[in-house]
Parts: sequence; structure tokens; C-alpha cells
Amino acid sequence: MAEAGESSSRRERLLPLFREARASALLITALPNVRYLSGFTGSNGALLLTGDRALLFTDPRYESQASQESDCEVKIAKGALMKDLSKWIRRLRIRSLAFEQNRISFEDHQQLREHAEGVHLKALSGAVEQLRMIKSNAEIATIKTSVQVNSAAFEQAFRHFKPSMTELDLAAEIEYRMRRLGAERAAFETIVAAGARSALPHARATELPIQPDQLLLVDMGANVAGYSSDMTRTHAVGKLGPKVRRMYRAVLESQLAAVDAVKPGVSCTNVDRTAREVLRGFGLEKLFVHSTGHGLGLEIHERPRVGRKERTKLEAGMVITIEPGVYQEGIGGVRIEDTVVVTPHGCEVLTPTRKELVVL
Ligand code: ZN
Ligand code: ZN
Repeated sequence: MAEAGESSSRRERLLPLFREARASALLITALPNVRYLSGFTGSNGALLLTGDRALLFTDPRYESQASQESDCEVKIAKGALMKDLSKWIRRLRIRSLAFEQNRISFEDHQQLREHAEGVHLKALSGAVEQLRMIKSNAEIATIKTSVQVNSAAFEQAFRHFKPSMTELDLAAEIEYRMRRLGAERAAFETIVAAGARSALPHARATELPIQPDQLLLVDMGANVAGYSSDMTRTHAVGKLGPKVRRMYRAVLESQLAAVDAVKPGVSCTNVDRTAREVLRGFGLEKLFVHSTGHGLGLEIHERPRVGRKERTKLEAGMVITIEPGVYQEGIGGVRIEDTVVVTPHGCEVLTPTRKELVVL
């Protein structure tokens, strides 16, 4: 949760961006960005920032919540937010307005053009997301709690595991435990994929029973006070053949090597390459079909992307996942994922759950 004063200092750090965008005001429409800059957690809101004022627009449902959560001037709109907001654009004599080009709806943009006629609209992309890459100590503490809740839910759910349970049963058990342990909700739809289905990197849990002598992949995250965690573990249900066990060893070695490479100054592409090189040693790199990881925080996928093309250098305070995987069609997949925080001299793996192969 944002500490008192935290959102106003974040807004201050945005000021240089006004100059960069040559705009006299900024319009924030992405809800996670609205939350980050104002503290407001409702599902309908927009933020208008000028050099010295911060106006939060929402609808009558959120009137008291908005003023409780936010230190911004709250404006309650009776109809479309952009209509009311445009009135203020005129009232404050804003001539040029930067907007979040990748996170505004077509409708909002059209309404702005209609109601704030004559105002120069300037497309801006990723400005707040860039600020959000570096987490404050309070944010890191919240993510830590989220990670702990997530791992505790995983452990508790597996205490109730029995073969023949369906993938959906296990997913439901996990999400129930998560909420009992203090999560607001799951950060994303829990993935439980058994056997050959584990070869689908983003499988949906099904009504199929979990059979013995195969892999079982679980990818899950909690959302605690707005902040996500993300973890994948792959277990063996019964006996695995030597090929699949070797796959597991390869992914584990790749994951450990990539975690080892995480420190300030190292580029994301280098961390990604480290993970791939280990898999190449096993002849499995072609079966690794996604990026090594991603930033997370108020959203489950944030910058930086820990992938081949991301040149961003890691900095202390970034929170990322490290999650190499190998997927063999018809046989199954192994992925091992931790949530990791970059520290001044290296990194700290926040996820406490063990990574050695567990046989159920
Ligand atoms: Zn995940
Ligand atoms: Zn992930």
C-alpha cells in the first residue's frame, strides 16, 4: 500500500517528463498508474496532473473512498469522466496535454478531442511504467508479503493433494488458501497443468484428473495490497523417466545460473542469455519458447522484460521473475519460477519454496 506522501513524491518525479513531452499537463488513464500516483484503488478513475495540481476524477460510487485513499483533489463526474475532465482542462487553461497513448481507450481519446477542442494532445508512452520499475522499500516489503502468502498457500494446498484430484480441484484449493492467508485475490488465473498439458506454457486448469507417473506444473501468484507475486513449481506425480528427469535438471540449472547473473548494471538480455546457454548445454534451448522473466508489482507483467531484446540494465529496487522453461510436446513441460529483487550488490530470491524435484 502507498505510504502517506509516497504518491505525491512520485508525482514530483514525473515533472521532468512534462518538459520532455513539452506539455503543460499530463492525463493518466491506466488504472495501475492512477493508483501509483494517487493512492486511489477504484475501478473507474483518471488523473489530471499539472505542474502544481493533481485532480482525481471518478464517479459517485467512489466519492468517499477516493478522498480517503488519495491526497489529490477529488472531482466526481456524473457522466463520462473525459467530459468533466475536459471542463477542467479549459478552466485551468491547459494548452497542451500529454496522454498515455498505449493505455487510453479509443472512446476516451475521442471524447477528449471533442470536449477539449483546441488543446494540443501529445502522445506519451511508458513514462509512469518507467518510474514504476524501481520499487520503494515499502513496495518491496509488500511484494515480500505477497510472495510469502503465495508460497504458504502452495504448501497448504499440496498437503491436501491426492492423485486423481482434477486440475481444477487443485487450482481451487490453491486460490482458497491464498485468500485465507490474506490475499485480495489471485494475481492471475492459477495454472495447474498435468502430464502432456504441462507442455502448454499458459495452460488452463481442466476437469481432467491428475494421473500418476507424470509432471505437474503449477504457476500461481497472489495479490496482496495491490502487489503481485509469481511462482512456478513443477512436481513429479510418481515416477518419471530419465529423459523428463534430465529436463528438470536442465531447467533447474538454467534457473539457478540466471538468478546468479542478476545484479545491478547487468542488462536483461544478458540474464536471458545466461538461462539459454545452460539449456543449450543440454540441447534443449529450442524448447524454451518464452522470455526468462518479467518485472512485476501493481501488475503481474511490468517492465523490464527479461528477454532477448531488452537492453535495460538492472538496477537495485527492480523486482523481476526468473522463469526458464522447457516444453516437449506430447510429453510435458518443466518451468521453475521465482520472484527476485535486485539489491545493491546482487539479488535476493524472495520465493522460499524449495526447487529440488519433489515427488508426490
Ligand atoms: Zn508465473
Ligand atoms: Zn511470470
